[in-house]
Amino acid sequence: MAAGGQTALESHIENIAWEQYHDQAVHLLQEYIRLDTSNPPGNEVKAAEFFHRLFEAQGISNTVFTYAPGRANLYAVLKGDGSLRPLVLLNHMDVVRAEPRNWRVPPFSGEISDGDVYGRGALDMKDEGLLQAMVMLIAAREKLPLRRDLIFLATADEEVGDTGSAWILENHPELVRQAEYLITEGGSNLIRPGGRTVYGIGVAEKAPYWIRMTATGRGGHGSIPIADSAPTRLVKAMDRVVSWETPIHLLPSVEEFFRQIAPLEKETRASEFRNIRTAPQDPAFARALTRDENFNYLLRDTISLTVLKGGQQTNVIPDTAYCEWDVRLL
Ligand SMILES: [Zn+2]
Repeated sequence: MAAGGQTALESHIENIAWEQYHDQAVHLLQEYIRLDTSNPPGNEVKAAEFFHRLFEAQGISNTVFTYAPGRANLYAVLKGDGSLRPLVLLNHMDVVRAEPRNWRVPPFSGEISDGDVYGRGALDMKDEGLLQAMVMLIAAREKLPLRRDLIFLATADEEVGDTGSAWILENHPELVRQAEYLITEGGSNLIRPGGRTVYGIGVAEKAPYWIRMTATGRGGHGSIPIADSAPTRLVKAMDRVVSWETPIHLLPSVEEFFRQIAPLEKETRASEFRNIRTAPQDPAFARALTRDENFNYLLRDTISLTVLKGGQQTNVIPDTAYCEWDVRLL
């Protein structure tokens, strides 16, 4: 601890000329967005080389792991003094595909409009990936006294198959095994009236449990209905599932979340949020909570109907129909 209760790190940070880094971050984000890493096919090797050049120029030790044609992960590390366990900054370099006709600006332009940078990945998650790279660059250039190793890990293929992170876990688990913390995308931001912003922190994720439900039956011609055809049976079964409400199941971290945001709510909601364990005993409150899409999924296992497939042709009753459910378990 230094004088005035400041740590060495805090006093270093106070003296940083942030303006130059701000401009650099904007330019680099534009450059990063212009690298088309639409997945499929990915081509993340372009992005890995981009980070490689940045880190090399700053003397940050880093490695590009090209694990398949066009697919690569990048690992970089700044050494701390070892008194604390490492912190991992994790980001993915691929983006979902973009249809240019749905965009006001070309999706890989990185154009600035009204003070915002536009482009595929500007929100998921080239913004955060680039900010994490800036943290590495600033920490290196400003020679910040780190107690933990600061690890930057950029992976390929998060949006489709997760082959990039799987490759690291299978081939180089030692690179991240000692880490105490990991920061990546996720969590949520709540913006409330009254000008107060609450930044949520995701502490866990629900477990996905994906189900395909298939009905089979006799096929035939659409002119002669079949009462128990595959599509009809499937619809009846689906109706039972969508009509079912899973019970409220309150996890301690969710209880804590409601307690934390309670002061942002007006009464009587504030006291209901403070007492979220017992408040849903009031059926009116339970109904209101269930109707609110932003809260409902926190409180129960959820079931979303996502895929629905039957016949190929209007005049043919198919012998098979299926649907898929995206179930998320607490
Ligand atoms: Zn993402």
